Amino acid sequence: MVTTALNTTKSEEIFSAAQKLMPGGVSSPVRAFKSVGGQPIVFDRVKGSRVWDVDGNEYIDYVGTWGPAICGHANDEVNAALRETLEKGTSFGAPCLKENILAEMVINAVPSIEMVRFVNSGTEACMSVLRLMRAFTGREKIIKFEGCYHGHADMFLVQAGSGVATLGLPDSPGVPKTTTAATLTAPYNDLEAVKKLFAENPGEIAGVILEPVVGNSGFVVPDAGFLEGLRELTQEHDALLVFDEVMTGFRISYGGAQEKFGVTPDLTTLGKVIGGGLPVGAYGGRKEIMSMVAPAGPMYQAGTLSGNPLAMTAGIKTLELLQRPGTYEKLEVMTKRLTDGLLEIARNAGHQVTGGNISGMFGMFFTEGPVRNYEDAKKADLSKFSRYHRGMLEQGIYLAPSQFEAGFTSLAHTDEDIDQTLAAAKIVLNSIAAD
Ligand code: PMP
Repeated sequence: MVTTALNTTKSEEIFSAAQKLMPGGVSSPVRAFKSVGGQPIVFDRVKGSRVWDVDGNEYIDYVGTWGPAICGHANDEVNAALRETLEKGTSFGAPCLKENILAEMVINAVPSIEMVRFVNSGTEACMSVLRLMRAFTGREKIIKFEGCYHGHADMFLVQAGSGVATLGLPDSPGVPKTTTAATLTAPYNDLEAVKKLFAENPGEIAGVILEPVVGNSGFVVPDAGFLEGLRELTQEHDALLVFDEVMTGFRISYGGAQEKFGVTPDLTTLGKVIGGGLPVGAYGGRKEIMSMVAPAGPMYQAGTLSGNPLAMTAGIKTLELLQRPGTYEKLEVMTKRLTDGLLEIARNAGHQVTGGNISGMFGMFFTEGPVRNYEDAKKADLSKFSRYHRGMLEQGIYLAPSQFEAGFTSLAHTDEDIDQTLAAAKIVLNSIAAD
């Protein structure tokens, strides 16, 4: 294994102090590098496609703060808009015009959304949409897919992929059995399993929720006909179809996966990109369903900081930048060159790999594949991934510290960044092969 002298003394000091102050030293589990070993890198600042740690090391970043940084970190135009808003106050706890502006942008962009409610995170969006699914249908059971993550609300912590998978926790303690009893699970891309669940629970299923392109088992795409099949099945059973587009919304196309695949769900959750780096989540859908949400209707859901002007500003400016011509084409071309390059280099070095991308979302598994669901993803060689991750870090490339996470590019990534990344991968993947 090639090792460069990556000096991380200050990161180590700060992280060991953090471990005494916060559980595991982090504010969110996957940041802790548990699955790849070693200590996390403590960031000092970020700009464009680059991040710098507290020891002054510079990395090309493919995490993008887990998705939001699609316009590049600390984008000048987003920052300028934020500065202007900051002067007028960060939170009103009263209606503000910027909510209307972002709401209109979301409604115009996302085919299923006629009305939207802003919240502060993807978790909140999913938790609220589940309440709405139940309120609207008067049914309690839901179907989710193994390896799909919909935030950390109790009802979703069943086969939840991502951080839960990374840490190897079967189910979280503290989640009552009675809460998850109504959460039915099926393997991703398995329409027959979903049919069977509908048949076994007649008239009891409120709806089906899924990541239309999965990012939380690593990068997994829907089989041809899978999304269409779910649309038909849910309609047949008077159940709701919900796309969790927290990761894919405004990422794989401006209108999300539903625009890309031409399948319109009843409800959609959003997060990440929609907040441009500030905490924003949203859920929306048909007017008829959204009218159940308080105060228009009886389904209660609220938030002190929801729709605050600062977060709305970051979202509005980010979406404005994404509307410029050529955005998604650029992301597609660049990310495909990255993914094709990584796969080719890995195969030439003798590794079994599979992977792909849609626009600026990508992934590579150390397994022959195909990877169509979470069971397949788990066959990937995790120890090889750890060595790859560490090697890339030492070469100045910052990848998500887990095999079960998708990667992200941004509009700030350049051809030179991709060249540099592929050159690094060549060194690392060849050295792993020689281990
Ligand atoms: N849904 C999906 C598809 C996600 O990827 C995530 C976060 N990775 C969430 C929900 C939860 O969002 P948040 O972390 O903002 O609570």
